[in-house]
Amino acid sequence: MEYQDFFRRAVQDLREEGNYRVFAELERKCGNFPEARLLGQDNDVSIWCSNDYLGMGQHPKVLSAMHAALDRCGAGAGGTRNISGTSLEHIELERELGDLHGKEAALLFTSGYVSNWSALGTLGAKIPDLVILSDALNHASMIEGIRHSGAQKRIWKHNDLSDLERHLALLPLEQPKLIAFESVYSMDGDIAPIAEICDLADRYGAMTYLDEVHAVGLYGARGGGISEQEGLADRLTIIEGTLGKAFGVAGGYISGSVEVVDFIRSFSSGFIFTTSLPPAVAAGARAAIQHLKESDWERQMQRRNVKSVRAKLDAIGVPHIDNPSHIIPVMVGDPVKCKYISDRLLAEHGIYIQPINYPTVPKGTERLRITPSPVHSAEDIAHLIDALEALWAECALARQPLAAQ
Ligand SMILES: *Cc1c(COP(=O)(O)O)cnc(C)c1O
Repeated sequence: MEYQDFFRRAVQDLREEGNYRVFAELERKCGNFPEARLLGQDNDVSIWCSNDYLGMGQHPKVLSAMHAALDRCGAGAGGTRNISGTSLEHIELERELGDLHGKEAALLFTSGYVSNWSALGTLGAKIPDLVILSDALNHASMIEGIRHSGAQKRIWKHNDLSDLERHLALLPLEQPKLIAFESVYSMDGDIAPIAEICDLADRYGAMTYLDEVHAVGLYGARGGGISEQEGLADRLTIIEGTLGKAFGVAGGYISGSVEVVDFIRSFSSGFIFTTSLPPAVAAGARAAIQHLKESDWERQMQRRNVKSVRAKLDAIGVPHIDNPSHIIPVMVGDPVKCKYISDRLLAEHGIYIQPINYPTVPKGTERLRITPSPVHSAEDIAHLIDALEALWAECALARQPLAAQ
C-alpha cells in the first residue's frame, strides 16, 4: 500500500466535501480574556465562541493557585494514579468535586472525553446484561464509550420522554439498565427534562448517567450544574463533568456513591493506565471550583450579556435558537455562507466565531455558536451586532420579523 497517498487522498475527500477542518491559531492573552492575538497577524481578536465560558482560565485566583502548585510540586504528576502519581492536589480536588455535586465520591480523569469514554465503557463492559439507553444527541465521547463497552444499547429520540419510556417498557424489568444523557446540549443549547428522566429511571429500575459538561460552574447556586439548580443531584447515579470549560483548566471527572466510584476506579483502563493530571492543573481547577461555589458574579454577568446579545439579535432580525441556556446558536443554514461570515468577522471585524457545519450539526442548520462571557463589554456586544447586521445584509440572508420571535 502507498500509505502516504492513502492519507493524502482521504484528507482530500474531506476537503472536497467542505469538511476539512482549519484551526484559527490563537495566542490567548493572560488576564485579557476574551481578547487574543491571531498568530501571524498583528490584530487582536475578540473570542465569541470559547468554552472557557466564564473566563476562569484567566482568573487571578486560578493562576496563582497554579503558580504556587508548580513551585511546590514541579511540572508533571510523575506517574499513573496507581504508581506514584497520586498527590494531595488530586485527593483534594476529588473531595471538592464530590462536595460540588453532593456526592460521596468523585474520580478524576485526564479529560471529560476520557471520563465519559472510560466510565461508560467500564459500566457497559462489566455489568452483566447491561442495556445502555443513550440520548440520540449524546456527545461523541459517550457514544464511543458505549460502543467500546460492547454493551447492548438503545438510542432514544433526543429529549423525548415517551420514546425513552417506550424503550424502557420493552426491556425486562429485572434487566440492568443505564440511561445516559446530557443536561445542556452544546449545539442547540436545550436542556434535558432531568426530573422526568429520573422518574422513568425509578419506575423501570434504571441507573442514570448525566453529562453536565456544559453546565458545571454555570448553573446552580454553587455551580453544581442543572442538577443542582433543580435540586436533583441526589437522584442521579453518576454526574460527569469537565474541568476544561467553565472551570477554565483541563481534566474530567465522575461523581457518585463510594461504591460506583470505587468500581470505576478499580476496573477502568482509561483511569488506571495513564499519567494523572499535573498537580498544578488540579490545583487550578480546584481554585476555579471553589471560587464559583462562592461567587455568583460571573454567572450573573454572563446571564446579563447572553440576554443582551439575544435582545439585540432580535432587534435586527437575525434568527437564533431560543433556548434556556447560555448558548446562542445563530442560524445561517448554509455551509458556504456560514464559513464566509466567520472568515469576514475574523478578517475585518476582529471577531472570532468558529462556523459550525455538517457533520457537527445536520445539513441546513449550519450556524454560528455564540457564547457571551461575563467580561465581554457593552462595546464588544455593539460591535458584534453591527458586524453581524452588515454581513447578514451582504449575504442576503433571511431576517426574522420581530412578531415571529
Ligand atoms: C467537550 C465535551 C466533553 C469532553 O470534555 P473535555 O474535557 O473537553 O474532554 C464531554 N461531553 C460533552 C457534551 C462535551 O461537549
